[in-house]
Amino acid sequence: DQIEFIKANGIESSNDANVDVEKLQTSRNSKLKEDRKALPIYPYKDALLQAVHDYQVIIIVGETGSGKTTQIPQYLHEAGYTRSGGMIGCTQPRRVAAMRVAARVSNEMGSKLGHEVGYSIRFEDCTCEKTILKYMTDGMLLREFLTEPDLSSYSVIMIDEAHERTLSTDVLFGLIKDVARARPHFKLLISSATLDAEKFSDYFDCAPIFKIPGRRFPVEIHHIKEPISDYLDAAVTTALQIHVTQPQGDGDILIFLTGQEEIETAENIIKNRIKALGTKIAELITCPIYANLPTELQAKIFEPAPEGARKVVLATNIAETSLTIDGIKHVIDTGFCKIKCYNPRTGTESLLVTPISKGSANQRAGRSGRTGPGKCFRLYTEHSYTNDLEDNTIPEIQRTNLANVVLLLKSLGIINLLNFDFMDPPPAEALLKALELLFALGALDKDGKLTKVGERMSEFPLDPMLSKMIVASDKYKCSAEIIGIAAMLSVGNSIFYRPKDDRQVQADNAWMNFHIGNVGDHIALLKVYNSWKETKFSTQWCYENYIQVRSMKKARDIREQLQGRLERVGIDSTSNVNDLEAIKKSIISGFFPHSARLLKNGSYRTVKHPQTCHIHPSSGLSQVPPRWVVYHELVLTTKEYMRQVTELKQEWLVDVAPHYYQLKDVEDSSSKKMPCRIGLASSK
Ligand code: ADP
Ligand code: MG
Repeated sequence: DQIEFIKANGIESSNDANVDVEKLQTSRNSKLKEDRKALPIYPYKDALLQAVHDYQVIIIVGETGSGKTTQIPQYLHEAGYTRSGGMIGCTQPRRVAAMRVAARVSNEMGSKLGHEVGYSIRFEDCTCEKTILKYMTDGMLLREFLTEPDLSSYSVIMIDEAHERTLSTDVLFGLIKDVARARPHFKLLISSATLDAEKFSDYFDCAPIFKIPGRRFPVEIHHIKEPISDYLDAAVTTALQIHVTQPQGDGDILIFLTGQEEIETAENIIKNRIKALGTKIAELITCPIYANLPTELQAKIFEPAPEGARKVVLATNIAETSLTIDGIKHVIDTGFCKIKCYNPRTGTESLLVTPISKGSANQRAGRSGRTGPGKCFRLYTEHSYTNDLEDNTIPEIQRTNLANVVLLLKSLGIINLLNFDFMDPPPAEALLKALELLFALGALDKDGKLTKVGERMSEFPLDPMLSKMIVASDKYKCSAEIIGIAAMLSVGNSIFYRPKDDRQVQADNAWMNFHIGNVGDHIALLKVYNSWKETKFSTQWCYENYIQVRSMKKARDIREQLQGRLERVGIDSTSNVNDLEAIKKSIISGFFPHSARLLKNGSYRTVKHPQTCHIHPSSGLSQVPPRWVVYHELVLTTKEYMRQVTELKQEWLVDVAPHYYQLKDVEDSSSKKMPCRIGLASSK
């Protein structure tokens, strides 16, 4: 089936575009050094350095791919900004971007990744004493304030992709402004492809704006004629349509999708359909890229397709501005992305597939016109673009759970958060909710001051509920088990492997083995980890048990780091693997706000802020729903699902969190008829 598009007004080229065609073509084939000189930023190198010399804070705006991220830190290094021993730090909102860019720059500088040029992302520090250019996630720099409030290891910080306005970036703005005021020789660069430069300039005490003139070719924009119901299928169909009808060597295709699962599905469909088309069709190479794509597979998207073949890159919005992929000529924009949404009433957070903003739509389209004229196919109507899409995405700080950030700011000694210099303040309700949660967890006292427990919690680079679970394990003498569970939970939902072929029965049996006795998902994860450890971390064992080795290795790394943190906060490593009650009570000490009870109709209702939910089908408890459960997270797909679920005894809630739950909260309707059950609240 063909999909029909209507052509709209495209994006016009900037003036100097045509002049550069030849230059760009030749530079592609030549060495990295020449490549660097061909970048749009290169002619502005001296002016930029002069500006950095003259001003302390600069706002830098330049088209994606112009060379901001890879070149500016190198220019500064060459100009001597690392000479006195200070590093140049550059923050990225995304982990993959931090890793990829560091890899590229170390390549350009002819050094080994992790030496002069390194990166730092959560649970992975790829730097050493030699490191002078450090790429990192914004969240990592934020945590560095805890150990070095004046950032004295850095001579320059570049906050890149500032337009993304992630929670960490927004908080960094407020903190780093003070650093600049306190350290006259410190330089601060705020950079982005697309931002409201005036607003940023105003915020940073009228900092000058440095614009790198763009070099963009015209982009033809096509909207779909009629709304469609299945954008994934439409995206694949459009990609194949382009591949089959457009001449070879005509450039690659980039499809924007919302996440890993969707990308994998699309990849499979494309492969199958190409196979079905037979050998008359030229080769089409699929290149996925998303946050959790294993490192060794990430580089593939940058490799040019071999002669006679075409590349189709399947990306999340990571390819919108963070990563530049050369050679893209056709962009297929589904019009959606996944964003985090927070409901301050219930305190629940979910990733929702949401329409993108007009700003994003135009960035996506622009990706096709970098090295020559391009085309963008939007899988939504022009009417929808004009009427349904917001102009800009709402900053994360206004739609997220703030507990993590509030704990961090409190640890930095910032007492009154209402006076904190936010570029756009978070909603008061969300701030209150965060304070409430931290109080309930015992991290703050009733005056909002950090407690000893809170101090310990802030040492862990984890969400406050996880940190609390770890801190509480001290009391229950099972810290060794709890950090194992925390590490496994931090890896995400990629422990068990379920093949799509006839091995599925074996995989399911292996999975069953870890869930024997309906121990619940947390304990099952612990069993997986401990069994693997017993085999001395055998890869073979993972294969035999349908466990993903890569995820396990990551869990082992994370566990090791958590072990180090335990020592730092003075918690002894104690093991009590057979005392499931102690382990569960530690979990509940952090996750008591995530408890739910079974209803007669088979669904669950959360205890504190009633909300209907269900046990996720992937849970070990989905077939044998217990009356009371604690869950790790709620995810909204077709329904609200609880993921990683463990059974609890209701009296534990009152026992562990008496300030949060009273007896009446945890009484069953059946127990109301039996007033003599009061004893169940007896605390030990
Ligand atoms: P900006 O930050 O302005 O968007 P970058 O500095 O990230 O631009 O990229 C500049 C150029 O460097 C890109 O246009 C691309 O050609 C090249 N480049 C960047 N990263 C890589 C990479 N990992 N592999 C190959 N080329 C890259
Ligand atoms: Mg960049």
